[in-house]
Amino acid sequence: MRTTRAGTTSSRAVVRLAAAVLAGSLAAAAVAAADAPIGVKVANMDISVRPGDDFFDYVNGTWLKNAEIPADRSRWGVFNELVELNRQRTADLIKELATQPAQPGSESRKIADYYASFLDEAAIEQRGYAPLHADLAAIDAIHDRTQLAHWLGGTLRADCDVLNSTQLETANILGLWVAQDLDNPQRYLPFLLQGGLSMPDRDYYLAKSPQMDEARAKFQAHIEAVLKLAGTPDAHAAAARVYALEMRIAAVHATRTETVDVAKGDNHWRRADFDSRAPGLDWSKFLSAAGLGAQQEFVVWHPGAVTGIAALVGKAPLDDWRSYLRFHAIEHLGAFLPKALVDEDFRFYGTALEGTPELSARWKRAVGATNGALGDAVGKLYVARYFPPEAKAQATALVDALFKAFAQRLDRLEWMSPATRAQAHAKLAALKVGVGYPDHWIDYSALHIVRGDAYGNADRSERFDLARNLAKLGKPVDRSEWVLTPQTVNAVNLPAMNALNFPAGILQPPLFDPKGPPALNFGAIGAVIGHEISHSFDDQGALFDAEGRFRNWWTAADMAHFQEAGKRLVAQYDAYRPFPDLAINGQLTLSENIADVGGLAAAHDAYRLSLGGTEPPLDHGFTGDQQFFIGFASAWRAKMREPAERQQIITDGHTPEKYRAATVRNIDAWYQAFDVKPGEKLYLPPDARVPIW
Ligand SMILES: [Zn+2]
Repeated sequence: MRTTRAGTTSSRAVVRLAAAVLAGSLAAAAVAAADAPIGVKVANMDISVRPGDDFFDYVNGTWLKNAEIPADRSRWGVFNELVELNRQRTADLIKELATQPAQPGSESRKIADYYASFLDEAAIEQRGYAPLHADLAAIDAIHDRTQLAHWLGGTLRADCDVLNSTQLETANILGLWVAQDLDNPQRYLPFLLQGGLSMPDRDYYLAKSPQMDEARAKFQAHIEAVLKLAGTPDAHAAAARVYALEMRIAAVHATRTETVDVAKGDNHWRRADFDSRAPGLDWSKFLSAAGLGAQQEFVVWHPGAVTGIAALVGKAPLDDWRSYLRFHAIEHLGAFLPKALVDEDFRFYGTALEGTPELSARWKRAVGATNGALGDAVGKLYVARYFPPEAKAQATALVDALFKAFAQRLDRLEWMSPATRAQAHAKLAALKVGVGYPDHWIDYSALHIVRGDAYGNADRSERFDLARNLAKLGKPVDRSEWVLTPQTVNAVNLPAMNALNFPAGILQPPLFDPKGPPALNFGAIGAVIGHEISHSFDDQGALFDAEGRFRNWWTAADMAHFQEAGKRLVAQYDAYRPFPDLAINGQLTLSENIADVGGLAAAHDAYRLSLGGTEPPLDHGFTGDQQFFIGFASAWRAKMREPAERQQIITDGHTPEKYRAATVRNIDAWYQAFDVKPGEKLYLPPDARVPIW
């Protein structure tokens, strides 16, 4: 579960995932969006812009001029509006629970108690920092490296995910992801990731720029303020030690671009390898405290960082470690502690790093926290109310249409040999699709929720998640497992499980309207579905076979062609400069960009197939193809605060929305639909377009 950190990433999901607790915004705007009339929203467009110059502004320009980002948000757009709508719905469902008698220990009771405990600020203020006292005393009592290793092992949580709903950073010293062995998808293995940083990425510590200099200065002040709030003696000196140690940890971290390279991450280590390859940390103590004492085989995703961090555990002064652990213990579940700390965390992570002026209302954070702890239990209520069987049937039909279109495109690819094509078809056929909600739900019976103990509930929830994930080790792989809750406004491809999740939360207007024009549905949700299918064939996804094994199923010539096309797409996106000093990282965003191009192409084919040779009626004078592309670009309607956009460019696999809308320049039909001519800014000559799939 995420707590106070504002930034999260997601490279196989269709959009960057919102932070679990901090996010929140204006419910009324979202409801208005959901009730808006169907069809092309001309009022959002700016038809004074030529579509060939800036398609994003052409479709969304008037909205961009007039929309204001709510004070408690770092970004605002279609996805945020839906998140807000679902947050309001979820809060209402939880409030209804409170009015009904529920058995002690039942899921309904747990949801209601968790939510009510988070809302009870008076009780939280009254307890102050008492929930931390035992941990802080234990940290003060660390007097040798063995005790240090034991403590660090006890902080491990199931808080990372390399390939699915990608969560690549943790403030704990290491991150854990329990997932399929990429070399043998029949079994689970524990993946260990680099961790230990409070700020979103090593760049925040190491990059030389005025923005990062400022972030570092504010971070040092933040550490001191936090330590003071929890009553740390000589907080100034302690803060300096924390900062110095985080700088040393950042220096051994891998970059984002290295992290998303599966070949660099898939390192199998036996238990004994840790002692020889990463000396300094008492691994026996660490792993047994983490619940992994008996585990013999691991995947070490960041071997350099694990070696570097272990060395720091062995050599950095214990005094530095105690200060560091104290700061991290206070921060870890800071959202469940007194308001002064919550405000200080927001000032730094929300305002300084993302530019958001105001903390969201407490009830919104309560919904986020409850979703984090009991997401499947809440999801059951959500789909029962908001996702009727008809919606599931219609969405499933759309998914089927996209699969059919994608399969036909595979058959038409001139560059692909029959051998590779057969493997691609096998992979597509084996792709397991979940629509709306999972077949099986998480069983929360072992999670103990106590009304009035917000902090303890959050802590127990994290430990429950850890135990639930560790329990997978040694069991058969469950390909029906979901990584998103049904109420999530997102979709995701799980490359190692060769599976897709399309939660109920994203299957609603304006992205999907069962009563709306097919052109808009295919352009919006159709392209999202196509995007997720295409992830199975992006630069990372293509490295996994039909069973999810990390194995090259390509002929050498086909792989060379695919990689060459990828390089051209990298160059296309590298050329986008949202800020004079900061360009898009074409390599970091390549998977997403391949998925955007492939998804849009397949969605357009699926749309044309659905017409059966007829042409649809004009809407406000727009042809069917025009409506389709407008539907696509309007799904990316969004604006961001500058610090948030900078953070996204540095840390996120997703290109900012404006450039995602420009995906159209790779599709021939867009040129015909809008009569785009050479000389217009988005124009690419036919041989410079990169459709790939
Ligand atoms: Zn994606």
